[in-house]
Amino acid sequence: MAIWNGKSFNRAIHNIENTQFRAKFESELPKIKGNMGIGCISDTEPQPLTVRSHLGQYTISTVGRINNLAQITEQAFAKHQNIHLLEINKGLINPTELVSVIIDQEDSFKDGLLKAQELIEGSCSILLLTPQGIYASRDRYGRTPLIIGKKKDSFCVSLESCAFANLGFKYDYELGPGEIVLLTAEGIERIAPPRDKMRICAFLWVYYGYPSSTYEGMNVEIMRNRNGAAMARNDNEDLDIVSGIPDSGVGHAIGYSNESRIPYGRPFIKYTPTWARSFMPQNQSIRNLVARMKLMPIPDLVSGKRLLFCDDSIVRGTQLRESVDLLYKCNAREVHIRSACPPIIHGCKYLNFSTSRSEMELAARNAIIELEGKEPESLDEYCDPANEKYTQMVKQISSKFSFSSLKFQNIHDMVEAIGIGSDKVCTYCWNGKG
Ligand code: SF4
Repeated sequence: MAIWNGKSFNRAIHNIENTQFRAKFESELPKIKGNMGIGCISDTEPQPLTVRSHLGQYTISTVGRINNLAQITEQAFAKHQNIHLLEINKGLINPTELVSVIIDQEDSFKDGLLKAQELIEGSCSILLLTPQGIYASRDRYGRTPLIIGKKKDSFCVSLESCAFANLGFKYDYELGPGEIVLLTAEGIERIAPPRDKMRICAFLWVYYGYPSSTYEGMNVEIMRNRNGAAMARNDNEDLDIVSGIPDSGVGHAIGYSNESRIPYGRPFIKYTPTWARSFMPQNQSIRNLVARMKLMPIPDLVSGKRLLFCDDSIVRGTQLRESVDLLYKCNAREVHIRSACPPIIHGCKYLNFSTSRSEMELAARNAIIELEGKEPESLDEYCDPANEKYTQMVKQISSKFSFSSLKFQNIHDMVEAIGIGSDKVCTYCWNGKG
């Protein structure tokens, strides 16, 4: 977090891998004074950064992924031989610092933010805290949202609108792709208009987003309910209980259960008090351990039952396989799995929410290689549910993981459940169309 106190910035950065955000910052809060601030939870680099340049003092936070980091760095050195960048661990450049270098090469914050949108391949939404106010710049294609909340005497801007309600803010405005605004005590000033083309990440609704967040007018939990209902309409399994793999599978499963009229149950309960988030640790074995220990089965609800679980997605499938093994150990009669999105065929090249995910570890890609004996030249046939190769791939995953049956949501119904138009959402990780 960084706060402007009228003269300088108070900044606090903590590692929250094993602690919640609030516990780490609590002792500092009384000392931090000021009425403007920015903050960010970053899996990769320490931020916000505090900068002093010809544009003045500012702090900067970014969310996104810069694929051409090396190229932008070389260009900056070629243009200004006497600039430097600090290295963070393993010789890497801090991407947020590089964005500040791009901004500082221009004559105003507006030009700098527009330059960053133009140069960056990938995506990058930016917050700049300056003595004059807070600049908010949504990434060029709007892969991530930026939403403004308002209450009587203040504004806030956030990627997750779930932050608003308990702090007394109400939804006010959502930035369009590439739009830039300046928030001040006087109000919101538009610095650059939205661009035409939007490709917001569909995975925000399927998995990444918090259920009480709303993007582009569609709430995450409501999308999951609609998506689960659509899956149920395409299904005809005889079952005793429908359930969701906590947490992000639950909304999809409730939709499935309501539509199919098969009772919803919780054969697994999520146990969180002593375990950190499984999303964050970059080490896969720690993530698996945390995920496994957090799911506690209720054998009485499992034994002899035909169960269907909705999961948000199948990435590697390791955690899901362990959960299903546990259910069989508790004498489940059948365990059917429904993925709330199509098979993930490509790694994401636009966001850094899953940097630890390598394409070759994806369950679908592994299945394809097992079937073909090598990487095929084209993956298109595996993206098409009407194609025999797709059917073979799904069978391969299902038998490898010992599921009684496996079905993936189709892309059409998933995009329909989001409901903002297929031309506005990114579906690259499922069909290579970004
Ligand atoms: S590739 Fe997938 S995860 Fe990445 S932005 Fe597109 S939909 Fe989201």
